[in-house]
Formats: sequence, structure tokens, C-alpha cells
Amino acid sequence: MIKQNSDHKTGKVWLAGAGPGDEGLLTVKTAELMETADVIVYDALISPEILSSIPAEKEAIYVGKHAGNHPVPQEEINHILVREAEKGKRVLRLKGGDPFVFGRGGEELEVLKEAGIPFEVVPGITSSVAVPAYAGIPVTHRDHTSSFHVITGHARKDGTLNIDFASLVKLNGTLVFLMSVASMEKILNGLMEAGMDPQTPAAVLERGTTAGQRRVTATVGTLKEKSDQAGIGTPAIIVAGKVCALAGELHWAEDRILGGRRFLLTRPRQNISSLAGRLRDLGAQVIEMPAIRTEPISPNPVLQDALERFCLKSGEKWLVFTSPIGVSVFFEQLAELRMDLRKLFCGPGETKIAAIGSATGRALAERGIFPDLVPGVYSAAELGRELSAKAGKGSHILIARAEQGSEDLIPPLTAAGLTVEDISLYRTVCEVNPLLREQVREMLENGGIDAVTFTSGSTVRGFAGAVGEMDYSCVRAVCIGEQTARQAEKYGMQIEIAEEASMDAMVEKITELFGRGGSRSGKETDDGAAGRAGSRAVYEAGDGKCGSGSLKTTDC
Ligand code: SAH
Repeated sequence: MIKQNSDHKTGKVWLAGAGPGDEGLLTVKTAELMETADVIVYDALISPEILSSIPAEKEAIYVGKHAGNHPVPQEEINHILVREAEKGKRVLRLKGGDPFVFGRGGEELEVLKEAGIPFEVVPGITSSVAVPAYAGIPVTHRDHTSSFHVITGHARKDGTLNIDFASLVKLNGTLVFLMSVASMEKILNGLMEAGMDPQTPAAVLERGTTAGQRRVTATVGTLKEKSDQAGIGTPAIIVAGKVCALAGELHWAEDRILGGRRFLLTRPRQNISSLAGRLRDLGAQVIEMPAIRTEPISPNPVLQDALERFCLKSGEKWLVFTSPIGVSVFFEQLAELRMDLRKLFCGPGETKIAAIGSATGRALAERGIFPDLVPGVYSAAELGRELSAKAGKGSHILIARAEQGSEDLIPPLTAAGLTVEDISLYRTVCEVNPLLREQVREMLENGGIDAVTFTSGSTVRGFAGAVGEMDYSCVRAVCIGEQTARQAEKYGMQIEIAEEASMDAMVEKITELFGRGGSRSGKETDDGAAGRAGSRAVYEAGDGKCGSGSLKTTDC
């Protein structure tokens, strides 16, 4: 953990690299700073995956390109850094790749030095090495080259390039050009005019390390034409040198089961990570956007009163749980109320326990309670049906769950003549990360997100509240049960349902739908026309078209 900066009245600036896009290429130190900084000043190249890991409540200042594509002037960025640090804040200046590789990091430090503001530099993984690596191009190889060189392809104001092509060609190393898409023709011609063999292998690599990564491999003589055919855009790098020929053999990133796929996960932040980790392991890019956060109702006099009465009741009585979070809040409340478990189970009457599904059952088992009933199908209606069949006549039922629990649970119980008390333990609060809202909406609309996962009806409502008004028919929703699916259907989303209410079943469903050999129809290719790997292919299939009537709402 990086400690508070207590020895300075002014704050401090950490100039840090965020890597080329893949969240896994963020350094441990930068990830820690994202948690501990007071304010984050970030560029356009920071990927949505990385933005999604910035806590929603954190102050973040975007200094990338504004509407109309005008970059924020460097002086203004310098001014923001000095201003925020002088307020005594811990400022994280987050840049794409490595902050000193064409990142103007040096200029920012000079300004901080002059203003007497302490700073640290956290190097990042630079795109100049990582993007070729993800394309299967080692920048050096003993059989082919003994050096690599990183060059800016950014043109001067008059459109000319400040590159000594003759010297570069003599080096015989791998040449990596950043900021080079606009000047591609000039660069390739410059190399050939300086004597480079037009047959030299070359590549252009777009959005490397992300799910949208594309690779065009050709020769120095043909790269421009092939790149144009494939419609390569920014950010991209050009690589020239023999090692580019290895990509055809050594490519790997897009070959992973979920390589080239991007998913958006909506779950309460408390339990988001396991699904994300498993999808990442399979090569997918994952944006974690917890749509909802749970807030325990505390103090909870209604629960206290209901429990006191429950404990005194004789005859058969059931305690019903409908989520793992509900279980954990319930036990926190017992501790807060200093209510002994023995009072619940050892008083008059016979206390039985029901759980809606296996995860809730496990949460209870971890606390030494093995439920008497877990329905075969994960749904509130099924729980209601099975419980009404199993509970003895005249049983008392206490349901401890979320404030806006499913309406399907209670009717079967009351219809069976049971007495039911429905007690709220927690409420779900909509959590919007404003940094992400726009980007996510845009990606959903243009097919940049393959699917969104939902694990409860409230995550669907929370997601809609978070992204705001849009045509939800673009959204392919992978849902954990019928009830969740029904909620997603109300918004007009395309529905997929996992077989069971478990993370395993979710991963299985996603792999079946999007894994290599699943419904994917696009694949990246070598030597020329690079197909869009993954994501967009889903929408080319036809049924995923946006535009049909869907419920537009921003409620949460
Ligand atoms: N400091 C950064 C480079 C900043 S200059 C670094 O170390 O990576 C911006 C240029 O970096 C872009 O124009 C592009 O050429 C390259 N770049 C950055 N991220 C990239 C990515 N994910 N894929 C391809 N090129 C990338």
C-alpha cells in the first residue's frame, strides 16, 4: 500500500503509465495509486477497462481530446497538475503506455520541479514493445535483428517528418513508428528511398492488446495499400523489419478462447471479481461496471422487532434468504443487535431455513447453516412454490431480503395460507461512473461490447440507470435466471440465459456463445485484409440490429 504523503504541505504528483490498453498490463504500483490518489488526471488513451476500475466516487479529470478533436493544451494540463497538488492532493497523472515514451512526461516534470511540487515516476508498459508482442512479433530475435528503435511518425506543422531515414535503414534493426498512421505513406517511401528493400516484412497494428486489436502484415512496399483496404485507424503503430514475418506463426492473442471479445459485467462491486477473472483468463477483455451497490439498512428496528417475535413463535417457522449479500447483511445485523444464534434456533418451535439458490446456500453453509430447502430452479416464483409445498400448515415465514425484492415470491405462500413477513435488509443503490457512461454507450451502440452479464433483476435496472437512455435492443444480455431475463426483456435486450444460477454456468454460456468455434463469424487474418476480431461479428449476423422498439428508461 502506498502511504499518505504526510511530510509535505503541498500534495504530490505521480506520473504513471497505464500501459497500452489491456488492464492486466497495468503495473501493481499504478493500480494501487488508482485506489489511493485523491484525483486522477488522465488521457484519451486510457482504456475503458482501466477506467472502469477507478472507483465511481473518485475525482477524475479528463485531459484528452475534447469534442471537435482539439487536445487540451499542454500548458492547461501543467496548470491542472500544479493547481491540484497545491491544494494538498495526491495527484495521479495517468498516461497511456509509458509516460516518458512520447508522452511529454519530461515536460510535465519540469513544470512540477519549478513549482516545487514533489513527484514520482511510475514507468508503464509501452505500446512500442507490447503491441508487437500481442501480435506475435518479438521486437528482437537472434536470427533476424539485434536492435529495435522507436521513432515518432508525428509530422511537423508543415507536414514534413523529422526522421533521418538513411541512418535508420543502416541500423538494420526493427523499426517501430508511433503516431504514424497519418504519415504512413511518407514513412514507407522514406525508408525505401533510403535503400530499404521493398520486400522487407512490415506490419501495422491497431488497438493492440485490446479486444479490438487488428494486425495487417505485408511488406514495406505493400503495407500502405493493405492497411487502407483494411481501414486501419488510430491508435496504431507501424513496425518494419524481418521479425514482422514471424507474426503469421507466433500470433496468439486472438487465438485464445475468448480472444477479441469484450464483455461488460454488471454486478454489485462486492462480488464482481470471480467472473471477471475467469473471462480474462480465457482471453476476453472485461469492463467491470457495477451497476448497483448494496447499502445495508442499519439500524434496522423493523428487523429487530420481527426477529424478536420470530424467536418466540412456536410451531414450524421458516427463515428465507434470497441472495448471498442478504445472508451476510443478516448476520451483520444479528451481531449489531447482539442477538445470539441460539435464540433463533433453540427457542420454542422449529426453525427451518430456505435459500433461493446454491450461492445463497453456500453463504449460509459458511456460517454453519445447511438450508432445508434450495429449489431445483433458481427463481423467486419457484422458491415460493416449493416452500409452500414443503412448509407445514400454519407455518410462519420470515423473508429477509432486498428492499425491492421480487414480487413473485409471496403470492404462492399466501395462497397456501401461510403467514408471511417480508423484511428489508438492504437496498440497492444505482452507481454510475460518469467517466464510463459515454464510452460504454457508444461501444454498445457500435457493437464494441459483445455481451452484458446480469445476475439479478436489480442489476438490469441498475445498468439501465447507469447508461441512461439508449436503444437497448443493441444489448446482448447474458442472464443468470428466468427472472433476470424477464427484466432484461422488458428493456428490449436480446436474451441469453445460463443453464444454472452459478458463475460456472455463466462462463459456460458465454464460451458457448462467443468462444472460438461458437457463433463468432469474424477472425483476424494475416497478409492483408484484417477482419474485425470478435466483437463486431456478432452484430453482422443480422438479428442483433438496433432500432426495434425498446423500452427507454433511466430509472434505477
Ligand atoms: N506513451 C505511449 C505512447 C504515446 S504516443 C506508450 O509508451 O505507448 C501515442 C501513440 O502510441 C499512438 O499514436 C500509437 O502509435 C501508440 N499506441 C498507444 N497505444 C496503442 C495501442 N493500444 N495500439 C497501437 N498503438 C498504440
